[in-house]
Amino acid sequence: MKVIDIINQSDKTVFSFELLPPLKGQNADKLYRTIEELLEFDPKYINITTHRDEMEYRTLPNGLLEKRTIRKRPGTVAIAASIQNRYNVPVVPHVVCGGFTKEETENMLLDLNFMGIKNVLALRGDKLKSESIFKPEPEGHAYANELVKQIVDLRQGKYLDPELKNNTPMDFCIGVAGYPEKHSEATNPDVDLINLRKKVESGADYIVTQMFFDNQKYYDFVDRCRAAGINVPIIPGIKPLSLKNQVSVLPGIFSIDIPEEFAKEVRKCKNNEDARQVGTEWAIAQAKDLIAHNVPCFHIYTYGISDNTRQIANAVF
Ligand code: FAD
Repeated sequence: MKVIDIINQSDKTVFSFELLPPLKGQNADKLYRTIEELLEFDPKYINITTHRDEMEYRTLPNGLLEKRTIRKRPGTVAIAASIQNRYNVPVVPHVVCGGFTKEETENMLLDLNFMGIKNVLALRGDKLKSESIFKPEPEGHAYANELVKQIVDLRQGKYLDPELKNNTPMDFCIGVAGYPEKHSEATNPDVDLINLRKKVESGADYIVTQMFFDNQKYYDFVDRCRAAGINVPIIPGIKPLSLKNQVSVLPGIFSIDIPEEFAKEVRKCKNNEDARQVGTEWAIAQAKDLIAHNVPCFHIYTYGISDNTRQIANAVF
């Protein structure tokens, strides 16, 4: 089922969550356990992230430095298909521009379509750690709105090769990312909103937000989107804090603020376990408030941890 239909047909707030594919070399047992621990709460769909090749340097035994390319978490397509088949829950694999040519993207979408997957989240992807700015592949997309356009073209069976005839259309529901606290690279929130609108005008069906810890930022963002003519559903993304140091690390990584009241509580914690409990309680309060504001769905960034997501679902459903 498509995410947009799930959202439109639901008369109460539902929830979804996001998982990372296992690290290369590891099996998927932990990932399946995480899902199984959450199934009783009836998640409506599961997102699977995508990771591009990274450049890495390592010192060889002979002391020389070796430069290599490695994808630490491959397997998005296969894991997504496996989850949907095993648990009969729709999956939303992420499709990213960075590191992929348009043709590789088309081939990934073909694989997803053959596997009965009806949803994707279309993203630009982050710049490499070694880059100062995001560099698209020579034959790839520079921005997510271009990727959205490619996926929309496939709805009409318009593939990249104009000589291909009688092509099977591929009808994906398309989600895109939105940033209540502005994307880190955008010069100001208004410019970021104009760029978000480009993704919706290109054909995105809904928006899912970057994590935020202050719900008012989400409500203000929704108001600004509506005023700018962005009328698709906007799914809030929440992250239960799971480590004490995340209170100082997350703002830098994701360009977000952590309310001082919450940060103070976390800093007082003696260890990660205490911080995790404080983080879970904060996320429960956020979820309750979002439900009270009738959001159609909220999305949990699990990072592969099920116990705090279970606590949230248990407290609010
Ligand atoms: P875009 O919408 O392309 O925006 C990127 C920047 O360019 C913004 O500053 C925007 O204002 C600007 N911009 C956009 N369009 C234009 C235009 N046409 N002209 C000029 N400027 C423009 N990353 C991964 O690598 N893998 C994942 O699985 C993944 N999952 C994510 C899931 C969610 C819900 C979110 C919120 C983020 C995720 N990310 C993931 C991170 C994401 O890839 C980064 O935040 C990335 O830096 C931006 O992606 P985007 O799709 O929002 O890019």
